Amino acid sequence: MKQDIYDVIIIGGGPAGMYAAFYSGMREMKTKLIEAKHELGGFMRTYPEKLVWDVGGIEPIRCEAIIHSLIKQASTFDPVIVFGQEVVGMEKRDDGIFILTANTGEKHYTKTIILATGRGITSIQKLTVEGADRYELNNLHYTVTSLDRFKDKAVLISGGGDSAVDWAIEIANIAKAVYVVHRRDDFSAFEASVTRMKAVATAYVPYIVSRLHGNKNKIHHVTLQHVDSREELDVEVDEVLVNHGYERNFGGAILEWGLSCEEYGVSVTPNMCTSMPGIFGAGDIVTNEGKIRLIAGAFNDAVLAVNSAKLYIDPTESKMAGVSSHNERFADKNEALRQKDKAEG
Ligand SMILES: Cc1cc2nc3c(=O)[nH]c(=O)nc-3n(C[C@H](O)[C@H](O)[C@H](O)COP(=O)(O)OP(=O)(O)OC[C@H]3O[C@@H](n4cnc5c(N)ncnc54)[C@H](O)[C@@H]3O)c2cc1C
Repeated sequence: MKQDIYDVIIIGGGPAGMYAAFYSGMREMKTKLIEAKHELGGFMRTYPEKLVWDVGGIEPIRCEAIIHSLIKQASTFDPVIVFGQEVVGMEKRDDGIFILTANTGEKHYTKTIILATGRGITSIQKLTVEGADRYELNNLHYTVTSLDRFKDKAVLISGGGDSAVDWAIEIANIAKAVYVVHRRDDFSAFEASVTRMKAVATAYVPYIVSRLHGNKNKIHHVTLQHVDSREELDVEVDEVLVNHGYERNFGGAILEWGLSCEEYGVSVTPNMCTSMPGIFGAGDIVTNEGKIRLIAGAFNDAVLAVNSAKLYIDPTESKMAGVSSHNERFADKNEALRQKDKAEG
């Protein structure tokens, strides 16, 4: 079977991987991106409705809108994007080509690799109450995709971290009532936020959600149980939001490839080179002295990693791509955009 060999395969479709896919296109590299999930966005998918303020040059904007822009930008040079495959295995042939193996058994061939796997593949900690899954298509939520959903409703939030507390405060602005259920007496969120939350919501501590009661697929009331006394009480609800955090398989099988690692990630040089020639890293997976675990930090890492990959393939290449404002690679695209602007008046 013909082996399609890429200049670079990017593993992970979060902000680091998406931006790397764009920038490798600017560097005219034949690019493939492999994402374990069936959508791009990475960890940003866990806070789509949150307003993000700290990405340079972007006004406060819903995270989902940034994901949307990143996906569009990543597609600029038509990289191949593979969904639903977790990369697990790696070997290097004598001719220097890497063979990556996915959990599906599929093999991918490349001259260089950029690890952009973040803190791993995220899975939501679900409510461990019998039959909970049947309400997921209706009024049991694990992420907030639209705040409007909670307008004038009685909303029960289960969880005691920043996310649960922040959502309680935000949802209380529009909801009829907000109840927060937490299994411990203390919340693990900013003190000021907890004080504010307690002023706008009813907190049940230490309680757990013990049963959900509904008609068809809609919960209409929830039984709460006191952690110590086991005393129970019922709360009528319209919507239930569970914020019990996430499990993330940091590194997964990649940590067995023999790369140098530290406690917080795969060690990289300032130019994002790992300890294995030809393998580079970007985003939350990597660690070095200046590492910034932010979306903006992921972008910067991605540029450095792509440039290093380009130079690894051909050391005579320039150290970075030409700036986009003066780059021939965009000439046709710029013209198409000008024509579009003109046509739209
Ligand atoms: C609660 C919270 C709020 C935040 N808010 C902000 C904020 O306001 N502003 C900001 O700048 N930053 C924020 N951050 C940080 C930001 O989300 C991360 O820095 C960023 O998502 C890291 O991007 P990444 O691409 O490195 O990794 P991720 O976003 O984690 O993406 C990694 C991707 O790789 C995939 N993957 C993992 N392993 C494999 C594999 N073996 N094979 C294939 N695919 C794989 C995963 O499925 C995932 O899609 C926040 C973080 C948290 C926890």
